[in-house]
Amino acid sequence: MTTGLSDENLAFQDMVNRWVAAEVPKDWARKLEQDEHNYPFELWDKFTEAGFHGIGIAEEYGGQGGDIVTQMILARALARPLAGLAWIWGITSFAGAKSIGIYGTPEQKGRFLPEIASGRLRAAISFTEPSGGTDVLGSMRTIATKVDGGWKISGEKIWSSSAHVADYLLLLARSDKNAAKPHQGVTLFWVPTNSPGIKITPLAKLGMRSMGSCTVHLDDVFVPDDLVLGEPHRAWYMLLPTLNNERIMVGAFCLGVIDGVLEDALDYAKQRKAFGKTIGEFQAIQHYIANIATWQLQTELLLNHAAALQTSGQDCFMAATMLKITASEYANQAADLGIQILGGMGYSAETDMQRYWRDSRLWRIGPITNEMARNGIAEKLGLPRSF
Ligand SMILES: Cc1cc2nc3c(=O)[nH]c(=O)nc-3n(C[C@H](O)[C@H](O)[C@H](O)COP(=O)(O)OP(=O)(O)OC[C@H]3O[C@@H](n4cnc5c(N)ncnc54)[C@H](O)[C@@H]3O)c2cc1C
Repeated sequence: MTTGLSDENLAFQDMVNRWVAAEVPKDWARKLEQDEHNYPFELWDKFTEAGFHGIGIAEEYGGQGGDIVTQMILARALARPLAGLAWIWGITSFAGAKSIGIYGTPEQKGRFLPEIASGRLRAAISFTEPSGGTDVLGSMRTIATKVDGGWKISGEKIWSSSAHVADYLLLLARSDKNAAKPHQGVTLFWVPTNSPGIKITPLAKLGMRSMGSCTVHLDDVFVPDDLVLGEPHRAWYMLLPTLNNERIMVGAFCLGVIDGVLEDALDYAKQRKAFGKTIGEFQAIQHYIANIATWQLQTELLLNHAAALQTSGQDCFMAATMLKITASEYANQAADLGIQILGGMGYSAETDMQRYWRDSRLWRIGPITNEMARNGIAEKLGLPRSF
């Protein structure tokens, strides 16, 4: 990343790139991901040693500090070799550092942020339910009922990534069944995964392997009052301002994937031979590579623009949402062309293109589908709500 970064940003980027080259090369990442049913604790531990779990956490709570630009630099650099495995860092950073850091009371911050920063606490996000993720509030069936000293939660969540190895779930539940509108009457809970009544089961899936995405069944799970985040019943209003951050981070992860695809495609095009030439001498392959490089720069410019708006406190909804759509579609298209450039080897588990394709495919669906993201842009442009 070369545009719009301060000297401090560039020094951090240089440090992270050197760390990535030494600690998480692509061959190592590929093997880690192939071990589909085992969570990569060794990767988590490397992040701990490097201090990455503390990025975005204030120094007074044992973190490294760092704003959205610092996080974006790290996300991009990690995703280049790690693709979806970079999310191993991202989930706890979002679910833990961000949520506690933004909505937590001073007591909650003091209790949990140092644990997160030092790599002793892992978190997962449990928002989506089997009845639907796009209409997440309208279809929410997980109910929290107020009881003496806390809440009892019952329901079912789906796709909670890394929940099987998490210490806490950042969980959204309907706390007022009589609320006038779907976005009212929902509460955010910080639920210990060892609470009686919780059953967590990993799901089989296309990509994002080895980090595990799970169903979470909750049967009358007691959560004490001091583990409610923010004001009860008003969670959605609280979450809204953080959605742009999430979209910027998705943009950074996708850009890292495009970086990885481009370097592998170029390497291969320069050494693979056909008809007595390297395939990089054929115009069709050159055009594919030119497309990937063009998508890389477009994504980078949009990413830097959205992050700059966010950093300066300006409204970045449009830029962050457009970035999320553009970055996920370009990353997936780039990986698809990457497979084409490598031919059969692109389809092989011995190269990374298939991994880039499988992992980037998710970003078109989550954390918000690109259809729903487009709905938001159209509405901002003055068109009526279509759903
Ligand atoms: C590998 C993986 C990891 C995930 N990790 C997590 C996690 O850690 N935590 C978590 O909470 N969730 C997670 N998710 C869930 C993800 O956020 C949801 O899959 C996503 O929000 C879409 O919800 P859905 O799958 O229920 O699709 P649905 O909501 O059923 O949508 C199906 C289709 O209908 C379209 N659609 C729906 N409504 C509209 C509309 N109004 N206009 C136009 N089109 C519409 C959608 O765009 C989509 O194409 C993960 C998902 C996957 C696959």
